[in-house]
Amino acid sequence: MTSVPMAEPESNEYRSDFLGRCVVLTPRRSSRPHDFVPCVPGKTSLPAQCFFCPGNESKTPPEIERVKAPGTSEWLARVFPNKFPAFGKSFKSAYGTHEVIVETPDHSKTLSQLDEAAFARYLGLVARRLRAHAHDKKMKYTCIFKNEWADAGASLEHTHTQLVGMNVVPDIIKQEKRLCASSCPFCLLAVDDKYSKIIEDGPFLAMAPYAPRFNHEVWIVPRSHTASIVDLDEASLLALARTMRTVLRAQDQLLDYPAYNILYHLAPHREKEFHFHIEICPRMAKWAGFEYGAEVVMNSVKPEWTASEYKAEIEKLK
Ligand SMILES: [Zn+2]
Ligand SMILES: [Zn+2]
Repeated sequence: MTSVPMAEPESNEYRSDFLGRCVVLTPRRSSRPHDFVPCVPGKTSLPAQCFFCPGNESKTPPEIERVKAPGTSEWLARVFPNKFPAFGKSFKSAYGTHEVIVETPDHSKTLSQLDEAAFARYLGLVARRLRAHAHDKKMKYTCIFKNEWADAGASLEHTHTQLVGMNVVPDIIKQEKRLCASSCPFCLLAVDDKYSKIIEDGPFLAMAPYAPRFNHEVWIVPRSHTASIVDLDEASLLALARTMRTVLRAQDQLLDYPAYNILYHLAPHREKEFHFHIEICPRMAKWAGFEYGAEVVMNSVKPEWTASEYKAEIEKLK
């Protein structure tokens, strides 16, 4: 009979955070990320057939806005309604809007491959759409998210972001609003050693959260108490673009261009008492019975590892 080695008594750890997210860190189950050799993924659909590529604009619903390339009629980014909306003006109990932002005309690019100016342009477009949604008093919140690759829920390859304007505020946002109203936990992140920092300088902090639901999850948090992207001036928007782009570039190198989600947690419309943050969640592992049954996530990558690995990748990018 072979003997099974005993686990280190301290190796697994149960953690819960101020958002009530519960994880069990299981480092012995990890396959370390440097087994992967980074390579730019090949997209398999042809631009000629892609709904989001230049030349196929008539295949999308009528455009809401486009960012024009200077001196030409070509576009650098476009916004249009989702053809299959979850929320819409014609739905009584799911009143709202559902829009798509195509961040680049280039079919082959991922978001991390945009230059800093293009990334800031994209965030500026997000902010303008949020302001437009806020004019509609029936719209309470806009959920902004990005699904990159099929394993993260994308149905089309051409990189894009979705905005779902809703007549309800999601529970997680209500909870964050309640927390922010007293001693804001997001203001404390920058000074609390419990959190593993990745980028500490500048107006935005990038960090591995204390109880990550996803392997190599990263949060981006403004250091000062800021409600939403709509409150950022041009310089701050550029700083946010720089931070997000750096994290995504490091992620692509570290994890070989993984499928991932970007989740924007912003203030409800017309509300100012909030501290926004952005979650970048690589989809390296699938949730299964334990996660759905116990609502506790098994995560084999400790956030302390995530932080040191991202830091090392960011050094290489310099
Ligand atoms: Zn395309
Ligand atoms: Zn705060």
